[in-house]
Amino acid sequence: MLQKPVQTANEIIARALESSKNPCFTCSFQAEDVANLDLIRKQHPNITVLFLETGYHFASLIAYRDRLVREWNLKIVNLEAKQTVAAQEAEFGKLYETDPTRCCSLRKVEPLMRGIASHDLWFTGLRREQSPTRANLQPFETHLFPDGRTLAKVSPLYDWTASEVFAYLSENKIPVISLYSEGYTSIGCEPCTTKPTAGEHTRSGRWGGRKLECGLHTVSIKEN
Ligand code: SF4
Repeated sequence: MLQKPVQTANEIIARALESSKNPCFTCSFQAEDVANLDLIRKQHPNITVLFLETGYHFASLIAYRDRLVREWNLKIVNLEAKQTVAAQEAEFGKLYETDPTRCCSLRKVEPLMRGIASHDLWFTGLRREQSPTRANLQPFETHLFPDGRTLAKVSPLYDWTASEVFAYLSENKIPVISLYSEGYTSIGCEPCTTKPTAGEHTRSGRWGGRKLECGLHTVSIKEN
């Protein structure tokens, strides 16, 4: 059933790896990222996996991450903010309530910029279907970052549907985070994740509908 999408994704991954000496993959351990990671690791078992350890994740997501790291022997790098959650809340309060853009900037965007600095290619699990902000996603893009660097950004599952993602995981007997069975369709930090609005896109439950992107995928300028 999934032969064509998997073949296309594998071709994208192979083409990307041919052109890269030091690729990385950012993984949130949501379903599409895990499907993507499974495909990538079959071609590059030692790929660097970057995880944004914001300090605000669901405990069940962290347990799931640790399980996959152990079972798949992943080369994971946990990227942390300069301040602990306690220090940030002592200085600024609950930024996720008062200024989520700043909170995401401190706990996601800045650590990501440090994490990808030594890599020449960035694999992502982005999909067009996820939200209106991702509708024009291309499998191969070149992005200009605030530090002046350009980086290849590759999204092998760019045209996959959520059904195809879950079918791939099921066919390959890969477990998913238990939160999906509770009705969540997009899972990020616990304070900023709710179930989606009926009939809306999968990311409509993020940040209480106040925004759709944390900044990881909007901090750079797409050049092609
Ligand atoms: S998703 Fe929420 S808690 Fe996580 S970094 Fe962004 S604002 Fe902070």
